[in-house]
Amino acid sequence: MAGYFARAAVVRDFDGTFAIEDIEVSAPHGAEVLIEVRAAGLCHSDLHLASTDMGIPAPAVLGHEIAGVVREIGDRVSGIAVGDHVVATLIQYCGRCADCLSGAGHRCPNRSHTLRQPTEAPRLKQDGSPVTQIFGLGGFAELALVHENQVVRIPESIPFAQAAVMACSTLTGAGAVFNCAKLEPGQSVVVIGAGGVGLNAINAARIAGAGRIIAVDLAEDKLELARSFGATDIINASAGDPVAAVLELTGGGVDHAFEMIGLPATSLQALRMTRTGGDAYLIGLHRPGSTLQVDATADIIAPQRSLHGLYMGSSAPRRDVPRYVAQYLAGQLDLDALVAREFSLDEINEGFDLLRTGGGVARGVITSFG
Ligand SMILES: [Zn+2]
Ligand SMILES: [Zn+2]
Repeated sequence: MAGYFARAAVVRDFDGTFAIEDIEVSAPHGAEVLIEVRAAGLCHSDLHLASTDMGIPAPAVLGHEIAGVVREIGDRVSGIAVGDHVVATLIQYCGRCADCLSGAGHRCPNRSHTLRQPTEAPRLKQDGSPVTQIFGLGGFAELALVHENQVVRIPESIPFAQAAVMACSTLTGAGAVFNCAKLEPGQSVVVIGAGGVGLNAINAARIAGAGRIIAVDLAEDKLELARSFGATDIINASAGDPVAAVLELTGGGVDHAFEMIGLPATSLQALRMTRTGGDAYLIGLHRPGSTLQVDATADIIAPQRSLHGLYMGSSAPRRDVPRYVAQYLAGQLDLDALVAREFSLDEINEGFDLLRTGGGVARGVITSFG
Protein backbone atom coordinates (compact mmCIF):
# COMPACT_ATOMS: atom_id res chain seq x y z
CA MET A 1 0.00 0.00 0.00
CA ALA A 2 1.28 3.41 -0.89
CA GLY A 3 2.07 5.97 1.73
CA TYR A 4 1.97 9.74 1.80
CA PHE A 5 4.44 12.58 2.03
CA ALA A 6 3.84 15.14 4.75
CA ARG A 7 5.58 18.25 6.06
CA ALA A 8 6.74 17.76 9.63
CA ALA A 9 8.72 19.58 12.34
CA VAL A 10 11.63 17.22 12.93
CA VAL A 11 13.95 17.12 15.95
CA ARG A 12 17.52 15.97 15.26
CA ASP A 13 19.92 17.31 17.90
CA PHE A 14 17.69 17.73 20.98
CA ASP A 15 18.88 21.34 21.24
CA GLY A 16 15.34 22.66 21.43
CA THR A 17 15.02 23.45 17.73
CA PHE A 18 12.81 21.95 15.03
CA ALA A 19 13.45 21.71 11.29
CA ILE A 20 10.61 21.60 8.74
CA GLU A 21 11.20 18.60 6.49
CA ASP A 22 9.24 16.09 4.41
CA ILE A 23 8.58 12.67 5.93
CA GLU A 24 6.88 9.58 4.53
CA VAL A 25 3.78 8.46 6.38
CA SER A 26 2.63 4.91 5.79
CA ALA A 27 -0.98 4.12 4.84
CA PRO A 28 -3.09 2.88 7.81
CA HIS A 29 -3.60 -0.80 8.44
CA GLY A 30 -5.35 -2.82 11.14
CA ALA A 31 -6.54 -0.52 13.94
CA GLU A 32 -4.75 2.58 12.65
CA VAL A 33 -6.35 5.93 11.81
CA LEU A 34 -4.71 8.44 9.46
CA ILE A 35 -5.49 11.98 10.61
CA GLU A 36 -5.08 15.23 8.69
CA VAL A 37 -3.80 17.38 11.52
CA ARG A 38 -5.60 20.74 11.78
CA ALA A 39 -4.32 21.81 15.21
CA ALA A 40 -1.40 20.75 17.42
CA GLY A 41 -0.76 22.29 20.83
CA LEU A 42 2.70 23.47 21.92
CA CYS A 43 3.21 21.87 25.32
CA HIS A 44 6.00 22.22 27.89
CA SER A 45 6.57 18.46 27.67
CA ASP A 46 7.47 18.84 23.98
CA LEU A 47 9.89 21.61 24.85
CA HIS A 48 11.43 19.37 27.52
CA LEU A 49 11.70 16.40 25.11
CA ALA A 50 13.12 18.59 22.31
CA SER A 51 15.77 20.13 24.58
CA THR A 52 16.95 17.04 26.50
CA ASP A 53 18.70 13.96 25.13
CA MET A 54 16.59 11.27 26.79
CA GLY A 55 17.71 8.49 24.49
CA ILE A 56 14.89 8.95 21.98
CA PRO A 57 16.28 7.95 18.56
CA ALA A 58 16.60 10.89 16.15
CA PRO A 59 15.12 12.06 13.92
CA ALA A 60 11.88 12.36 15.85
CA VAL A 61 8.47 13.97 15.33
CA LEU A 62 7.05 15.32 18.59
CA GLY A 63 3.58 16.75 19.27
CA HIS A 64 1.06 14.91 21.42
CA GLU A 65 -2.14 16.99 21.55
CA ILE A 66 -3.85 17.20 18.19
CA ALA A 67 -7.20 17.61 16.51
CA GLY A 68 -8.00 16.94 12.89
CA VAL A 69 -10.05 15.13 10.29
CA VAL A 70 -9.88 11.39 9.56
CA ARG A 71 -8.53 10.82 6.06
CA GLU A 72 -8.23 7.02 5.95
CA ILE A 73 -8.76 4.07 8.34
CA GLY A 74 -7.40 0.55 8.68
CA ASP A 75 -9.62 -2.51 8.14
CA ARG A 76 -10.09 -3.21 11.89
CA VAL A 77 -11.10 0.32 12.96
CA SER A 78 -14.63 0.61 14.30
CA GLY A 79 -16.67 3.61 15.39
CA ILE A 80 -14.47 6.08 13.50
CA ALA A 81 -15.12 6.99 9.86
CA VAL A 82 -13.39 9.00 7.14
CA GLY A 83 -14.32 12.67 7.52
CA ASP A 84 -14.91 12.47 11.29
CA HIS A 85 -13.47 15.24 13.43
CA VAL A 86 -11.25 13.73 16.13
CA VAL A 87 -8.72 14.45 18.82
CA ALA A 88 -5.75 12.18 19.47
CA THR A 89 -4.07 11.90 22.85
CA LEU A 90 -0.82 10.46 24.18
CA ILE A 91 -2.64 8.01 26.47
CA GLN A 92 -1.73 4.60 25.09
CA TYR A 93 -3.62 1.54 26.37
CA CYS A 94 -4.51 -1.94 25.17
CA GLY A 95 -8.18 -1.99 26.15
CA ARG A 96 -8.02 -5.65 27.24
CA CYS A 97 -6.03 -5.95 30.47
CA ALA A 98 -7.35 -5.82 34.05
CA ASP A 99 -6.40 -2.15 34.42
CA CYS A 100 -8.09 -1.16 31.15
CA LEU A 101 -11.22 -3.18 31.94
CA SER A 102 -11.52 -1.51 35.34
CA GLY A 103 -11.44 1.97 33.78
CA ALA A 104 -7.79 2.59 34.63
CA GLY A 105 -6.33 2.55 31.13
CA HIS A 106 -3.87 5.22 32.30
CA ARG A 107 -2.19 2.39 34.25
CA CYS A 108 -2.13 -0.04 31.32
CA PRO A 109 1.15 -2.00 31.26
CA ASN A 110 0.74 -2.79 27.53
CA ARG A 111 1.17 0.67 26.02
CA SER A 112 3.15 -0.73 23.09
CA HIS A 113 -0.05 -2.47 22.00
CA THR A 114 -0.87 0.77 20.18
CA LEU A 115 2.39 0.67 18.18
CA ARG A 116 3.50 -1.30 15.15
CA GLN A 117 5.57 -4.41 15.87
CA PRO A 118 9.32 -4.31 15.14
CA THR A 119 8.73 -6.76 12.27
CA GLU A 120 6.36 -4.32 10.55
CA ALA A 121 7.34 -1.35 8.40
CA PRO A 122 7.68 1.82 10.52
CA ARG A 123 4.82 4.29 10.39
CA LEU A 124 7.16 7.21 9.61
CA LYS A 125 10.22 7.18 7.37
CA GLN A 126 12.67 9.55 5.80
CA ASP A 127 14.96 8.42 2.97
CA GLY A 128 14.08 4.82 3.81
CA SER A 129 15.07 5.07 7.51
CA PRO A 130 12.60 5.07 10.41
CA VAL A 131 11.58 8.33 12.10
CA THR A 132 10.56 8.24 15.79
CA GLN A 133 6.89 9.04 16.36
CA ILE A 134 6.51 10.34 19.92
CA PHE A 135 3.87 8.50 21.99
CA GLY A 136 2.71 6.75 18.82
CA LEU A 137 1.37 10.13 17.71
CA GLY A 138 3.88 12.57 16.18
CA GLY A 139 1.49 15.50 15.88
CA PHE A 140 3.78 18.24 14.56
CA ALA A 141 3.09 17.19 10.97
CA GLU A 142 0.43 17.46 8.29
CA LEU A 143 -0.52 13.82 8.85
CA ALA A 144 -0.56 11.64 11.96
CA LEU A 145 -0.98 7.86 11.86
CA VAL A 146 -2.39 6.76 15.22
CA HIS A 147 -3.90 3.64 16.86
CA GLU A 148 -7.68 3.96 17.23
CA ASN A 149 -7.45 3.65 21.05
CA GLN A 150 -5.76 7.07 21.09
CA VAL A 151 -8.46 8.67 18.94
CA VAL A 152 -11.77 10.16 20.12
CA ARG A 153 -14.53 11.57 17.89
CA ILE A 154 -15.62 15.14 18.59
CA PRO A 155 -18.51 17.19 17.20
CA GLU A 156 -17.79 19.65 14.39
CA SER A 157 -19.05 22.47 16.62
CA ILE A 158 -15.83 22.60 18.64
CA PRO A 159 -12.95 24.39 16.86
CA PHE A 160 -9.80 22.36 16.19
CA ALA A 161 -7.46 24.55 18.27
CA GLN A 162 -9.69 24.33 21.35
CA ALA A 163 -10.04 20.57 20.86
CA ALA A 164 -6.27 20.13 20.61
CA VAL A 165 -5.69 21.99 23.87
CA MET A 166 -8.28 19.77 25.51
CA ALA A 167 -6.37 16.64 24.44
CA CYS A 168 -3.53 17.33 26.88
CA SER A 169 -3.97 20.23 29.27
CA THR A 170 -7.66 19.64 30.00
CA LEU A 171 -7.31 15.88 30.36
CA THR A 172 -4.41 16.49 32.75
CA GLY A 173 -5.68 19.48 34.74
CA ALA A 174 -9.43 18.86 34.84
CA GLY A 175 -8.84 15.11 35.15
CA ALA A 176 -6.83 15.70 38.32
CA VAL A 177 -9.84 17.46 39.84
CA PHE A 178 -12.66 15.22 38.58
CA ASN A 179 -10.99 11.79 38.41
CA CYS A 180 -8.31 11.90 41.10
CA ALA A 181 -9.44 14.39 43.75
CA LYS A 182 -13.13 13.67 43.08
CA LEU A 183 -13.68 17.16 44.43
CA GLU A 184 -16.83 17.68 46.48
CA PRO A 185 -18.85 20.91 46.47
CA GLY A 186 -17.57 23.42 48.99
CA GLN A 187 -14.07 21.92 49.29
CA SER A 188 -11.04 24.18 49.05
CA VAL A 189 -8.31 23.93 46.46
CA VAL A 190 -4.89 25.40 45.75
CA VAL A 191 -3.26 25.20 42.31
CA ILE A 192 0.46 25.99 42.09
CA GLY A 193 1.33 27.03 38.53
CA ALA A 194 -1.31 28.85 36.45
CA GLY A 195 -0.25 27.64 32.98
CA GLY A 196 -2.51 25.67 30.65
CA VAL A 197 -2.84 22.66 32.95
CA GLY A 198 -3.30 24.78 36.06
CA LEU A 199 -6.01 26.94 34.46
CA ASN A 200 -7.91 23.78 33.50
CA ALA A 201 -7.71 22.53 37.08
CA ILE A 202 -8.98 25.88 38.34
CA ASN A 203 -11.82 25.82 35.80
CA ALA A 204 -12.73 22.24 36.76
CA ALA A 205 -12.71 23.12 40.46
CA ARG A 206 -15.20 25.91 39.73
CA ILE A 207 -17.42 23.51 37.75
CA ALA A 208 -17.24 20.98 40.60
CA GLY A 209 -18.43 23.63 43.06
CA ALA A 210 -15.27 24.24 45.04
CA GLY A 211 -15.60 26.81 47.82
CA ARG A 212 -12.23 28.47 47.76
CA ILE A 213 -9.91 28.20 44.73
CA ILE A 214 -6.46 29.66 45.32
CA ALA A 215 -4.01 30.18 42.43
CA VAL A 216 -0.30 30.51 43.15
CA ASP A 217 2.20 31.70 40.53
CA LEU A 218 5.09 34.12 40.07
CA ALA A 219 3.60 35.92 37.06
CA GLU A 220 0.98 38.57 37.71
CA ASP A 221 -0.60 38.20 34.23
CA LYS A 222 -1.10 34.47 34.77
CA LEU A 223 -2.68 35.13 38.15
CA GLU A 224 -5.10 37.62 36.61
CA LEU A 225 -5.98 35.02 33.96
CA ALA A 226 -6.51 32.50 36.78
CA ARG A 227 -9.18 34.78 38.25
CA SER A 228 -11.16 34.68 35.02
CA PHE A 229 -11.01 30.85 35.10
CA GLY A 230 -12.46 30.75 38.60
CA ALA A 231 -9.74 31.47 41.14
CA THR A 232 -11.29 33.17 44.18
CA ASP A 233 -7.89 34.16 45.59
CA ILE A 234 -4.48 34.68 44.02
CA ILE A 235 -1.07 34.57 45.65
CA ASN A 236 2.09 35.87 44.01
CA ALA A 237 4.75 33.56 45.46
CA SER A 238 7.45 36.20 44.93
CA ALA A 239 5.77 38.36 47.56
CA GLY A 240 6.42 36.06 50.53
CA ASP A 241 5.92 32.54 51.84
CA PRO A 242 2.98 31.10 49.86
CA VAL A 243 2.44 28.29 52.41
CA ALA A 244 1.86 30.77 55.23
CA ALA A 245 -0.44 32.78 52.95
CA VAL A 246 -2.58 29.72 52.10
CA LEU A 247 -2.77 28.56 55.72
CA GLU A 248 -3.90 32.01 56.77
CA LEU A 249 -6.47 32.41 53.97
CA THR A 250 -8.03 29.03 54.72
CA GLY A 251 -7.61 28.90 58.46
CA GLY A 252 -5.40 25.81 58.41
CA GLY A 253 -5.00 24.56 54.86
CA VAL A 254 -6.91 23.35 51.78
CA ASP A 255 -8.57 20.00 51.10
CA HIS A 256 -6.71 19.49 47.81
CA ALA A 257 -3.40 20.94 46.55
CA PHE A 258 -2.26 20.51 42.93
CA GLU A 259 1.37 21.07 41.90
CA MET A 260 1.78 21.78 38.17
CA ILE A 261 5.41 22.96 37.97
CA GLY A 262 7.58 19.95 38.77
CA LEU A 263 10.00 21.35 41.36
CA PRO A 264 10.85 19.87 44.78
CA ALA A 265 10.24 23.19 46.56
CA THR A 266 6.77 23.74 45.12
CA SER A 267 5.89 20.06 45.61
CA LEU A 268 6.65 20.35 49.32
CA GLN A 269 4.71 23.60 49.44
CA ALA A 270 1.68 21.83 47.96
CA LEU A 271 1.86 19.14 50.65
CA ARG A 272 2.24 21.69 53.43
CA MET A 273 -0.66 23.80 52.15
CA THR A 274 -3.14 20.98 52.86
CA ARG A 275 -5.23 20.71 56.00
CA THR A 276 -5.37 17.71 58.33
CA GLY A 277 -6.38 14.75 56.19
CA GLY A 278 -5.70 16.72 53.00
CA ASP A 279 -4.42 15.44 49.67
CA ALA A 280 -1.57 16.80 47.53
CA TYR A 281 -1.16 15.82 43.88
CA LEU A 282 2.09 16.00 41.92
CA ILE A 283 1.37 16.68 38.26
CA GLY A 284 4.31 18.73 36.92
CA LEU A 285 7.17 16.68 35.47
CA HIS A 286 10.27 16.60 37.70
CA ARG A 287 13.82 16.23 36.40
CA PRO A 288 15.16 12.68 36.64
CA GLY A 289 16.60 12.10 40.12
CA SER A 290 14.67 14.99 41.69
CA THR A 291 14.09 14.20 45.39
CA LEU A 292 11.65 15.46 48.01
CA GLN A 293 12.83 15.86 51.57
CA VAL A 294 9.73 15.18 53.63
CA ASP A 295 9.51 15.28 57.41
CA ALA A 296 7.70 11.97 57.87
CA THR A 297 6.00 12.92 61.10
CA ALA A 298 5.35 16.64 60.67
CA ASP A 299 4.46 16.59 56.97
CA ILE A 300 2.68 13.25 56.53
CA ILE A 301 1.82 11.17 59.60
CA ALA A 302 0.69 13.70 62.20
CA PRO A 303 -1.46 15.71 59.74
CA GLN A 304 -2.69 12.45 58.11
CA ARG A 305 -1.91 13.76 54.65
CA SER A 306 -1.64 11.83 51.39
CA LEU A 307 0.72 12.56 48.51
CA HIS A 308 -0.33 11.32 45.06
CA GLY A 309 1.60 11.02 41.80
CA LEU A 310 -0.67 11.46 38.79
CA TYR A 311 -0.40 10.58 35.11
CA MET A 312 -2.58 12.48 32.63
CA GLY A 313 -5.29 13.14 35.21
CA SER A 314 -6.12 9.41 35.35
CA SER A 315 -8.04 10.11 32.16
CA ALA A 316 -9.98 7.71 29.99
CA PRO A 317 -10.22 9.86 26.85
CA ARG A 318 -13.34 8.19 25.43
CA ARG A 319 -15.13 8.75 28.74
CA ASP A 320 -13.74 12.20 29.52
CA VAL A 321 -13.42 14.04 26.18
CA PRO A 322 -17.21 14.00 25.57
CA ARG A 323 -17.69 15.43 29.08
CA TYR A 324 -15.29 18.31 28.38
CA VAL A 325 -16.82 18.96 24.95
CA ALA A 326 -20.25 19.24 26.59
CA GLN A 327 -18.87 21.56 29.28
CA TYR A 328 -17.19 23.70 26.61
CA LEU A 329 -20.33 23.93 24.49
CA ALA A 330 -22.35 24.81 27.62
CA GLY A 331 -19.98 27.70 28.35
CA GLN A 332 -18.64 26.14 31.56
CA LEU A 333 -15.19 25.11 30.40
CA ASP A 334 -13.27 28.02 28.92
CA LEU A 335 -11.01 26.69 26.18
CA ASP A 336 -11.15 29.85 24.05
CA ALA A 337 -9.01 31.85 26.45
CA LEU A 338 -6.53 28.94 26.60
CA VAL A 339 -5.71 29.30 22.93
CA ALA A 340 -3.51 32.31 23.41
CA ARG A 341 -1.93 32.39 20.00
CA GLU A 342 -2.03 30.47 16.73
CA PHE A 343 1.07 29.65 14.68
CA SER A 344 1.91 27.98 11.37
CA LEU A 345 4.10 24.85 11.35
CA ASP A 346 6.91 27.00 9.93
CA GLU A 347 6.73 29.21 13.03
CA ILE A 348 7.14 26.33 15.50
CA ASN A 349 10.52 27.52 16.82
CA GLU A 350 9.09 30.99 17.43
CA GLY A 351 6.13 29.41 19.24
CA PHE A 352 8.39 27.43 21.57
CA ASP A 353 10.62 30.47 22.15
CA LEU A 354 7.56 32.28 23.46
CA LEU A 355 6.65 29.32 25.67
CA ARG A 356 10.23 29.19 27.01
CA THR A 357 10.28 32.84 27.96
CA GLY A 358 6.82 32.86 29.50
CA GLY A 359 5.50 35.46 27.11
CA GLY A 360 2.09 35.53 28.77
CA VAL A 361 0.91 32.61 26.65
CA ALA A 362 -1.76 30.32 28.02
CA ARG A 363 -1.19 27.99 25.08
CA GLY A 364 0.22 28.35 21.58
CA VAL A 365 -1.36 26.12 18.94
CA ILE A 366 -0.21 25.31 15.41
CA THR A 367 -3.22 25.67 13.15
CA SER A 368 -1.74 25.86 9.65
CA PHE A 369 0.45 23.16 8.15
CA GLY A 370 0.71 23.89 4.40
ZN1 LIG B 1 1.09 18.10 26.70
ZN1 LIG C 1 -4.44 -2.38 29.10
